[in-house]
Amino acid sequence: NIDEGASLIILSDRGVDERKAAVPALLAASAVHSHLVKARKRHMAGLVVETGEAREIHHIAVLLGCGASGVNPWMVFERIPELLALASPGISAHGADSQAAGLSAETVSDNYMEAVKKGILKILSKLGISTISSYRGSRLFEVVGLSETLLKDYFAGAESRFGGIGMAEIEADVLENHRRVFGQGTAAGEATAAGVASVGAASANPAPELPWPPRLATLLTKAVRNGDNAAWRGYADGMDDPARQPFAFRDLFAFKSGMAIPLESVMGTKEITARFSVAAMSCGAISREAHEALAAGANSAGAWSDSGEGGEDEDRSTYADSGIDSRSASRQVASGRFGVTARYAADAVELQIKIAQGAKPGEGGQLPGAKVDAYIAKLRHSAPGKSLISPPPHHDIYSIEDLSQLIHDLRCLNPEARIAVKLAAQAGIGAVAAGVAKAGAPCVVVSSGDGGTGAAPLSSLDYVGNAWEAALPEIRQVLAMNGLDANIVVQVDGRLRTARDVVIAAILGAREFAFGTAALLSMGCVACGKCNLDRCPVGIATQDPALRAKFAGQPEHVAAFFSFIAEDVRSILASLGATSLDEVAGRWELLDFGRRAATTREKLLGFDTIMTALEIARRYPLDEEGDTDGSGPPQLPLPEAGLRRFNGENRPPFAIPDIDALLIERYSKAMGVDRRIEAEMPLRNADRSIGAALSGALIRLGAALAPDAIRVRFTGTAGQSFGAFLIDGVNFTLSGEANDFLGKSLSGGRIIVRPRDESRFQPERNVIAGNVCLFGATGGEAFLGGQVGERFCVRNSGALAVAEGCGDHACEYMTGGQVVILGRTGINFGAGMSGGTAYVLDEDQLFDTRCNLGDVDLETCADLKDGVFLKSILARHHMLTGSPRAKLILSDWEEYLPLFVKVTPR
Ligand code: SF4
Repeated sequence: NIDEGASLIILSDRGVDERKAAVPALLAASAVHSHLVKARKRHMAGLVVETGEAREIHHIAVLLGCGASGVNPWMVFERIPELLALASPGISAHGADSQAAGLSAETVSDNYMEAVKKGILKILSKLGISTISSYRGSRLFEVVGLSETLLKDYFAGAESRFGGIGMAEIEADVLENHRRVFGQGTAAGEATAAGVASVGAASANPAPELPWPPRLATLLTKAVRNGDNAAWRGYADGMDDPARQPFAFRDLFAFKSGMAIPLESVMGTKEITARFSVAAMSCGAISREAHEALAAGANSAGAWSDSGEGGEDEDRSTYADSGIDSRSASRQVASGRFGVTARYAADAVELQIKIAQGAKPGEGGQLPGAKVDAYIAKLRHSAPGKSLISPPPHHDIYSIEDLSQLIHDLRCLNPEARIAVKLAAQAGIGAVAAGVAKAGAPCVVVSSGDGGTGAAPLSSLDYVGNAWEAALPEIRQVLAMNGLDANIVVQVDGRLRTARDVVIAAILGAREFAFGTAALLSMGCVACGKCNLDRCPVGIATQDPALRAKFAGQPEHVAAFFSFIAEDVRSILASLGATSLDEVAGRWELLDFGRRAATTREKLLGFDTIMTALEIARRYPLDEEGDTDGSGPPQLPLPEAGLRRFNGENRPPFAIPDIDALLIERYSKAMGVDRRIEAEMPLRNADRSIGAALSGALIRLGAALAPDAIRVRFTGTAGQSFGAFLIDGVNFTLSGEANDFLGKSLSGGRIIVRPRDESRFQPERNVIAGNVCLFGATGGEAFLGGQVGERFCVRNSGALAVAEGCGDHACEYMTGGQVVILGRTGINFGAGMSGGTAYVLDEDQLFDTRCNLGDVDLETCADLKDGVFLKSILARHHMLTGSPRAKLILSDWEEYLPLFVKVTPR
């Protein structure tokens, strides 16, 4: 048809009737797209798919990703009037949303299309793709459950690691569905015997149950509250029951029977619980009481917990002195940097950089305003009632070098803390984990798609994350091949339910184990699945004081849960003939990968890639000839697993920058109650993170600094992260210029950058500091006598910052503080801003075209208070930086004031 001049191909399944069944739309679209690409004719025609199969955003996104130019989900539009007729206010029935009652079919159709559009944009954003034409036909999918042959023939480029169904099964499904709709017509008889058998097996399954069935949740709660062994067995055996519907690949695996050894020869319970942690959940997502009880329980068991993204109350350090240590030993540093102050990070045993979360890779967090009460707002340096959004990426990490820089910043601030990096389980994770190891982080956390989060959209929970069963062997293989396995501990985080999961994860390569939902069950969670509604009936996932009062969890419950699991781990290890978790690592032969597969479809899955990866890893390191026969040099000892043990290890101390070391020494030697020091120092661009180690040391010394107690004048070029985490009382003045990340997580200190005295250029026309300055600042001041790069003051929540011009994306996601820009800005100013104020001198009257007006309002500075504030800030800016620009504006104040635009969140 294209050869005959057709420029649009429409694939439609509208013609289905008693005698005709439709080829699945995705298969048809992908086949046509692939054929046209091979024939070099794809550009000559559009490809529209008209299908009743597509309903959800994911369905439409996959069709576009497989080559469709457009999609018409006709069945949705045809059913809207019918569903509207069923909708009535207050009643949600038959799948009809009660909120739709009273709306016209046209409005509902428009809403549907708007929702699909937003969903597709979100998917593109998660993938880092800007335009639909770059996404169309890209097949950037990891496929679960399709055979290699099918992929090769119809979905080339997509990846499927465990195989699955082929054409015969798809045909059987199509015909079975057709039979269900049209009855036993002639078409059903054409199904293949294998296909019919498998459909039959599938339809014979009992009604599906939930991954965390409430009946088992109740048993777990009973077990930990009463020390009830019978209840524990009921929970653990119920979860591991082979007759239960599989929810993960590991549910198809079985342990092989080995040469059992006596239980006494297996590592002890405490050694095992020392490798357990409570997975990251923020104080905000869950209540203060639950957060503290989880941490205290984990600490008392010799394990640890992670704070999640949201800061932590400094008072929890005081409780520790009274015997209940409810501090989160691991503190998260996530993309929003909520609550990440110098004190928060300096008080941590571990700092976990969350690059991605398995349940929603590519997305940041979102805490609804209803959950942000005064306490949560204080922790996050925001205002009560404001929804808080974490950006998808870390604005200071766009490469492995940037990650390495953040690791360096954190290590300077807190040299004793272990740095962990959390990644989402997906194809290619092995290479990323190797990068993490090379960047200097001694722990990588693998987070899989089945991990729970009440804050993830259903489209992410259902379709985005992948399994740790695939990720762990890949990591093990890549680390071994690159000689990095002795540098890094692998932790797994993703719906760990019982000891069975723990031992399987250990065989596949994990050495530490983080529990999320299961830990909540031990606190009384009844698995109702309504964490996002702030109506948790047991006071866990809520900030409602009345509901929080119902919280009955105790630290002992978490400790008891960890003990039960650890005891079961010991039993399994003994049955496998292994004395420790490390002894089973990589031993794939201990698992029968498909033994629990019950249906024809499950039996089509193959797990050779797991065995191959583990086998390759086992052969390393290579010998001198490059052979992998195991005769190479002995393997280096692995680092201690378990946070407390790792930190107790005798490791070489981290070398903080010499400049910081000198300043710490001088401050330590300073005499008197009101200790002060002043210093002058040269700087080179190799001097990175200057000030972070000083701030961390001062916090650990318990120093209460007077204003300007430490004043340092630098001359030269500052390397990255100049003044990162600088605390109040420290004042840095730089004559010269600074690289990226100046004032990252500024925590009360003051940074002044001004041109060198001998410079001849016009400061307001030149860049004096790089990209991502003041990212995540929570307090302090920065006066920058020139322009700055992109992403200035992103996620500022409390600092005052002045610059004379800035690049794109300034003040994005800002929640507090004040920013003054005395020149031109780049585009996308103020996107996602929900707090604080910015003032921009808009001389060309075009700022509204560069500002993201979706979230902010613009107004003049007619209010007297604004004028007084601006004038005083400009006077200080001129005094501190010598800015000719500020001097000019002040000299003609009445002319300039009306040119300032005030930017406030809507
Ligand atoms: S809302 Fe339901 S699922 Fe979430 S923590 Fe509470 S009881 Fe558990």
